[in-house]
Amino acid sequence: MTGMVYLVGSGPGDPELLTVKAKRLLEEADVVLHDKLPGAAILESIPAEKREDVGKRAGGDRTSQEYTNARLVELAEAGKTVVRLKGGDPFVFGRGGEEAEHLAAHGIAFEYVPGITSAVAGPGVAGIPVTHRDHASSVTFVTGHEDPTKDESAVDWDALAKTGGTLVVLMGVGKLPAYTGELLEAGMPPETPVALVERATRPDQRVVLGTLESIVDVRDEAGIEPPAITVIGGVAATREHVAALLRNAAPRGV
Ligand code: SAH
Repeated sequence: MTGMVYLVGSGPGDPELLTVKAKRLLEEADVVLHDKLPGAAILESIPAEKREDVGKRAGGDRTSQEYTNARLVELAEAGKTVVRLKGGDPFVFGRGGEEAEHLAAHGIAFEYVPGITSAVAGPGVAGIPVTHRDHASSVTFVTGHEDPTKDESAVDWDALAKTGGTLVVLMGVGKLPAYTGELLEAGMPPETPVALVERATRPDQRVVLGTLESIVDVRDEAGIEPPAITVIGGVAATREHVAALLRNAAPRGV
């Protein structure tokens, strides 16, 4: 009999932020395909003999995704109960959509199990609500991974500079200078608050604050590295009003 695939979100890393359903499925699964994003605490709670790391490998992302797609089908056809575990939510920059399409095309039944996305929880644990009546009536999730100077870039930073809402950039540490530059050039005020939230909900979480103009220097001084969320907009300043009493904050802020 054909098995079943669960596309499961792990949340941002704190094991207590796994859903009850994700926890049950991790226990019941025969095999768990994962990359590194769910984080050590969650991955180490899964018996090693069930785990298969399908994270980026030499040969590039594309090869890896094709391998993952094929492996999901292979395991399901062998009758296994498979959890494809993804950081955050599977359908927010997680390639879960591609995997769902691949499974459907190969006649494999699957279920989507939502996870808490770092796009909302990352800012949140830093004391930054992604919407706020006084600051933002909309929020846009955007990838920072694309080179904004590329002609064929799928992200219209010029348009994003004008939404007046919050911008939450995922995969946006490396190209921070490029897209903050684009936003400034498009007329976004240089004093717009910007926060970087590194390894949100993990023991070594860090948060730094700056402005659209200063955030690249702030990043460099603190040595912020992926995974981190960039939050751009008036909401980022909320952190300063709540940080002293916010118990989600890292034990020692930076
Ligand atoms: N599906 C994931 C996002 C995958 S893209 C989700 O819904 O959260 C990978 C990016 O997610 C990282 O580059 C980073 O920007 C962000 N990210 C994921 N987990 C994070 C965490 N714990 N802290 C900060 N950023 C995180």
